[in-house]
Amino acid sequence: MSPHDIHQSRNPHGVRPHGTSRAERTVISASEIGGYKYCAKSWHLRRQGHQPVSRKLQEGKEYHTHLGETVRKLNAVEEGALETAGRARKLLAYAAVIMLVSIPLLAVIAVMPAAQPLALIPIAGLALLVYAVLIRIRSTMAVWYVNMRRDKKGIPTFGEIIYTDLDRPAKVLFSREQMLSGKPDYIVEYDENTMIPVEVKSSTASTPYNSHIMQLAAYCILIEEKYEKQVPYGVIVYGDGEQHRIDYTPELKDELLDTIAGMRYDLKLGEVHRNHDSANRCAKCSLAHVCDEAIEADSDS
Ligand code: SF4
Repeated sequence: MSPHDIHQSRNPHGVRPHGTSRAERTVISASEIGGYKYCAKSWHLRRQGHQPVSRKLQEGKEYHTHLGETVRKLNAVEEGALETAGRARKLLAYAAVIMLVSIPLLAVIAVMPAAQPLALIPIAGLALLVYAVLIRIRSTMAVWYVNMRRDKKGIPTFGEIIYTDLDRPAKVLFSREQMLSGKPDYIVEYDENTMIPVEVKSSTASTPYNSHIMQLAAYCILIEEKYEKQVPYGVIVYGDGEQHRIDYTPELKDELLDTIAGMRYDLKLGEVHRNHDSANRCAKCSLAHVCDEAIEADSDS
């Protein structure tokens, strides 16, 4: 029997223990759920206090911090550009009024040479018009640049970002019902009844990993409970800026609740084993240095 079989036999799918044991009262975080799906053994090693050793973890933190700073900078540029666009609109209106007033003035100047100094008024109107057009062009280009950068980085533009945990710690969301906690990278308010969690990964993937999907599903539950809004889907953004929409279906919620139940079941047992047969995962694992169940590369199936 492989460690995988051992783990599965102790953790039958669908078991949802209820009660008041320590394991059932333990708060589980959304990122732990992702970790558990990656490898139950590595999740448990971290729970036991073992520290991960990985250059990629540090790179991931730096990626998140840099992205958070970029989001703030782009927001500031956009805010400035929109202010400039508003100023340009006002100046264009003033210039139009001056030009209108200038039409009879030009007629007066044509018949009264002594009124020539009044010619400064249409000249000023023309200068104001040129200035307003130039700053309007500059603000349009700034908004285009902001949208292009957001698109490249996969920064959500389908609603208002009302929460971000990328570069500054945000408040932890907590579900008393599930004893679940977590901090999504963004929460986007799509409309007054709908919110969308967004999770950023510095790695790349053509299709989202199940561990990432489960982590995102945990954020959906947390937002439902905290904000009492509809959460029809969540979004995973990989390092190439590609956004992957994950529908938050009853089946996904069930899978998540079964996973959490499995984690509590394992905590109760106090002994957790590897739940996969991938040498590739072990090769990338940040806890391989303290693991006695790592698979050698040439035994990958
Ligand atoms: S080395 Fe492999 S089995 Fe061990 S914790 Fe890491 S992924 Fe799991």
